[in-house]
Amino acid sequence: MTVELRAHHLLCMLTYIGRGYTPAFVANYEVVIARLAAGEQIALIDGPDDICAPLLNEDAPHCHNDRVPERDRLARLAVADLLGPATDLAQPFRLDQTTLAGLRSAFSTGQIRSACAGCEWSELCDSVAKSGYSGTKLTIQAC
Ligand code: SF4
Repeated sequence: MTVELRAHHLLCMLTYIGRGYTPAFVANYEVVIARLAAGEQIALIDGPDDICAPLLNEDAPHCHNDRVPERDRLARLAVADLLGPATDLAQPFRLDQTTLAGLRSAFSTGQIRSACAGCEWSELCDSVAKSGYSGTKLTIQAC
């Protein structure tokens, strides 16, 4: 199985500590985190993904926010730049411990945070990164 993620959610996963827009959003996040921890691959997609697609019937779903497509575009560019040409983001890929650590390191320095501009959760994500990702839910076991 493959987890479908819109690109900015790949960044949001790095600092996820169990808080999100709604209880249903958090519940979907927990399912996706468990799937990634179990070794499922990630496919970056455009539009609603495995976290937000089930929530499209909520009032004002956040994935219809005007800024979200641009957030995805910037996140995809930043991650592609970080991972380099050896990783084809058009293809599913697996998040291993090394990649996760590299993403978190780049998140902490701001290298991959252009997509975060104007996000209401930015202060929380800043503090999680500053804490060394204490309390974050996404962990990947060694192969
Ligand atoms: S600041 Fe917003 S877009 Fe950036 S990782 Fe946090 S929740 Fe996601």
